Amino acid sequence: MGERKKRNKAPETPTLDIPARPMPPEEMSKAFLAAPQVVAWLNEVFLDPDSPLYNEDHAHLRDAHIGALWTEVTNEKQMRRVAATAEQPMFRASAWGRARQEMQMCEWFGDIPDFVITIDARIARGMSDASWCALIEHELYHCAQALDVFGAPRFNQRTGLPVFAIKGHDVEEFVGVVRRYGAGNAAGQTSKLVEAANATPEFGDFQIEHCCGTCL
Ligand SMILES: [Zn+2]
Repeated sequence: MGERKKRNKAPETPTLDIPARPMPPEEMSKAFLAAPQVVAWLNEVFLDPDSPLYNEDHAHLRDAHIGALWTEVTNEKQMRRVAATAEQPMFRASAWGRARQEMQMCEWFGDIPDFVITIDARIARGMSDASWCALIEHELYHCAQALDVFGAPRFNQRTGLPVFAIKGHDVEEFVGVVRRYGAGNAAGQTSKLVEAANATPEFGDFQIEHCCGTCL
């Protein structure tokens, strides 16, 4: 009893002052539901410079329109259950196919977003806070700014806004998730990832046992 009390007073992992994470609705009335709470939360937690979990690797995303979806549709790839994906909306070539998909995006997000993050609601419900943070940040690392031939970030010449692209996980930016949350989340084999995995994570050590559909 005394031991437990003591442990509660001095937790091994310091509690971060971040807003409570959004949970999927108990009952999903549709196969996919827009999750604006997730976007608001990730903006506040990862993109706001005043947040303890702010990550400047995502600074370009302050100009991005991100849409998020909860789903209970099971997505399996390579025998593994996908926990989340990050995509850029891609439209069919036919006029009606495109219009139909654009209409759906507008109904969910009010506009065509730059990126869509889809999250398995059942997996999300069972995740620890740390796994949840690592998963969302992992998806954010996919939501990259395009680079020019010299490796410099690309901007739209007309609007001055970043040009966005989906980035694979075998790039050094993914070191960030490992550095911040520990190994297990990054599937890459690069030496930098190993290096980061051996260092002490900034926000507590744990394993993510779920999978990212964009990586698979
Ligand atoms: Zn991934």
